[in-house]
Amino acid sequence: MKPLTEQEIRAAFVNCTKGEAKRLSVPRELAETPWDDLDYLGWRDPQAPDRAYLVTELDGLPRAVRLRTSGPAFGQTRRSMCSICLTTHTGGVSLMVAPRAGKAGQQGNSVGTYICSDLCCSLYVRGKKEAGIGARLHESLTLEEKTERTVVNLAAFIAKVTA
Ligand SMILES: [Zn+2]
Repeated sequence: MKPLTEQEIRAAFVNCTKGEAKRLSVPRELAETPWDDLDYLGWRDPQAPDRAYLVTELDGLPRAVRLRTSGPAFGQTRRSMCSICLTTHTGGVSLMVAPRAGKAGQQGNSVGTYICSDLCCSLYVRGKKEAGIGARLHESLTLEEKTERTVVNLAAFIAKVTA
């Protein structure tokens, strides 16, 4: 994806107030981020690891979502699959819950999905990070098709948040 600045990321949040977007933690090392290898940038608040964030580009516009997570969902033994990049991990997938945008979110409505706990979907898809034997299905898809699918899955999730 295209490199983003801190300003652009803060302005891209779809499900928090302007004040929250101003205060939330954005990674400092944006300049060294390997943007070319990313379909989205995901991170956790180092002060509050149950807070996670991700930013991606949809139709040429940056879109960011704030998430709540409780860390790996089922202890460390159960295998589960990330619904964004379809990597299977042992204990490395978390239920991440996004408050819905606008009024719905204020009323407590949220949308949940299972995502790689380290928010590194892009790197698993590209084989730049390993999740262990059997983590990735053998597929005849090209890398381009796989990254496209990741983006489609993520876009569908964000569409639910903003619906
Ligand atoms: Zn993933």
